[in-house]
Amino acid sequence: MSPERAVALRAEVDLSAIRHNVRQLAGRGEIMGVVKADGYGHGAVPVSRVLIEEGVGWLAVATVPEAAELREAGVQTRILVLAAPLPDYLPAYEALGLDAVVSSVEVADAVIGRAPFVPVHVKVDTGMHRLGVPPEEAAGTVRRLTEAGVEVVAVWTHLATADADDPGFALEQVRRFDGVLRDLGADAPPLVHVANGPAHVRLPPLTSRPALVRLGGVLYGLDSDRAMTPDTVDLRPAMRLVSRVVHLQTVPPGESVSYGRTWTAERPTVIATLAVGYADGIPRALSNRGAVGIRGARYPIVGRVCMDMTMVSLGDPDGAGREVRRGDESVLFGRGGPSAEQTAAAAGTIPYELTTGLTRRVPRIVS
Ligand code: PLP
Repeated sequence: MSPERAVALRAEVDLSAIRHNVRQLAGRGEIMGVVKADGYGHGAVPVSRVLIEEGVGWLAVATVPEAAELREAGVQTRILVLAAPLPDYLPAYEALGLDAVVSSVEVADAVIGRAPFVPVHVKVDTGMHRLGVPPEEAAGTVRRLTEAGVEVVAVWTHLATADADDPGFALEQVRRFDGVLRDLGADAPPLVHVANGPAHVRLPPLTSRPALVRLGGVLYGLDSDRAMTPDTVDLRPAMRLVSRVVHLQTVPPGESVSYGRTWTAERPTVIATLAVGYADGIPRALSNRGAVGIRGARYPIVGRVCMDMTMVSLGDPDGAGREVRRGDESVLFGRGGPSAEQTAAAAGTIPYELTTGLTRRVPRIVS
């Protein structure tokens, strides 16, 4: 066995699930595949290859180094870097042939100073208040860029509440964005993009113009519990996080487990130690809250999650847990265990944070 496989933890990535999800999501707007944060932890290069094979013509990443990794792997597709470009980054966009975001009037000025620069997407701040040109300055900014010889490919915006039950604020953001399109009139660039994954699956089409849809989590099946996805869309989770049982013991009543003694056995209890901890990226907030799947049953995490190990209770020494053996698989999330959504909820977070938070120590097994 190679040294890198001699570890009782792996994240399995099923590219056929991603392929299935893209096909489910196609047909309502051209897809921009969001593969930032190493493809939400699934591996940006293999995921991008699948997306490209499925006809996806645009990719988005968060940073220039993420785009460089794709270019080095031979990805020729258009790549939009979603970051706000600082002046010293601009040469890298040109060198790598990337699409840039104009995230403020200052960035527009810097880009004009390097005209023709690379194709740009002017971001409008319609209410997220993270990045973007104010709506009342957007049309003027687009015209100034175009007059300076910069190719403006798109105007776009990002919704703050696309996954919320109440669509009210998302629709208000769309209304503000429509105002910009009206200001632009015939000067509007060829493309717009507004929807992220949740908006794409839940809201009606947001604009009558040719639109790209920036899809992230849904591509990876990160709504398998259907909190937001309607029945018409069948998403398959692409990742499974699997650890193994490395130690078994029975603790007597009154004995505690793990740091801080936050869990104490009330009766003789079989404890399994799993080779996964917060240094692998599972949240320490799962302490005494999460559960794992072993041999088809669920067992609760007991005591504090440690840096490299986590303990679960297999219950009574005469119960079903007695079947568990050292070396057995234990599923933190994915098939055979709780969903990523359930594990995330137990930790008070979202599944995106789980999959992007897995560290370098976790081998990704991509198939
Ligand atoms: N667009 C932008 C600007 C984003 O930051 C993100 C992700 O955070 C997305 C689109 C994709 O969103 P989602 O993964 O919810 O589909």
